[in-house]
Amino acid sequence: METRITRLLDWSARDKAWLLAVITVPLHLFYAGWVWVSLNYTDFGARFLDPAVAGQGLAYALLAALYWALVAAWGSALRYLQRDSMLLVNTVIFSYGISQLPLAFLVGMAEPMTGVILLGASITGFVLFSFWRVLAAFFISLFVLMLLSLLTVEGVLPYAPVMLEDPISRDYVSPYYVTSQFMLGVPFVTFAFVICYMLLSRWKRREAQAQRLAVTDPLTGVANRRAFLDMLEREYARAQRDQSSMAVVMLDLDHFKNTNDSHGHAAGDAVLCHAAAVLGGVVREVDSVGRLGGEEFAILLPGATASEAMDVAERCRAALCRAPVMHEGAPVDVTASLGVCGLQANTVQRASRFLELADQALYAAKEGGRNRVVCYQDGP
Ligand code: GH3
Ligand code: MG
Ligand code: MG
Repeated sequence: METRITRLLDWSARDKAWLLAVITVPLHLFYAGWVWVSLNYTDFGARFLDPAVAGQGLAYALLAALYWALVAAWGSALRYLQRDSMLLVNTVIFSYGISQLPLAFLVGMAEPMTGVILLGASITGFVLFSFWRVLAAFFISLFVLMLLSLLTVEGVLPYAPVMLEDPISRDYVSPYYVTSQFMLGVPFVTFAFVICYMLLSRWKRREAQAQRLAVTDPLTGVANRRAFLDMLEREYARAQRDQSSMAVVMLDLDHFKNTNDSHGHAAGDAVLCHAAAVLGGVVREVDSVGRLGGEEFAILLPGATASEAMDVAERCRAALCRAPVMHEGAPVDVTASLGVCGLQANTVQRASRFLELADQALYAAKEGGRNRVVCYQDGP
């Protein structure tokens, strides 16, 4: 679900600042609307709000909306002109929290909304913009807030000047006011949640991608050397516990250097991909194919005996040489030599020994004339 908006985190700082300015306009209109509706149409307004101060609050909210509309227009112009501007980004970061503080002051700074805004704004900021600037903006807002609080405590400024009396007190709790507090916090919390969700889902996606890349051979898509050796260790431990056998097949393409030399490196790559696909098609569900490097593949066959592994290896060999690989209209012949080692796990000292013994058998297959399967036998 990668649409333009879910790639928000990849937007340029300019575009993110622009978006924030755009959505802050309705936010302030929402505040203004709340004051206006409360003042003119509710019992709450008649009882608790000071009409003169509420009028100032309304005017301020409208002014702030206008300010953000201008910033948004500035952002739109920059987008249209395809110009970047750090000034726009800084303006948004540093005025975002500050522009809401006067409203917090009017209704009372100790209201939960203040914390919601401070936290929501900084979380959003940290995800969208550079850490230090947002931290600086956070501390500036916090400083202004503390200064206002100090002045209130000292009696220089009134607390919650818009309120005629406390809407939440020991004697009476205004349901309208409590509901309003939640309502006014919803846009903030929602936006912060959406941003965090985007960040988290991106992180999970990246994590899965990194995990996949770490174990996959990029050319052929089969397990890479590290992943194959890990699987080998795991299956060896299990086979030892279960006292069962397991097998490893090593495969090396024949005269692959010639393939590259006569058809080109791209043809060589195509042959490697073809070989990986063929092996994947031949082996059983429980078996694993890995590319150990170059034109060398290995197959891990948990629970298989030497003769079962020989069967699989022979089918791989036959499937590979059955038809040439077509590359850019030209046929490229492919054959491979295979070495097999299938043993009771508890007769083998360590997992990597399976590979060494299969490699010995592979060497014998090369010596014996290539395009064949040789099984490791105890003794010379
Ligand atoms: P042999 O039958 O004895 O195995 O001969 P060979 O030519 O296959 O063996 P050698 O080890 O001399 O050559 C392996 C070649 O594999 C050399 C190298 O250029 C090629 N090779 C290794 N990795 C890649 C790859 O990722 N892509 C391509 N196209 N070629 C590769
Ligand atoms: Mg080779
Ligand atoms: Mg080789």
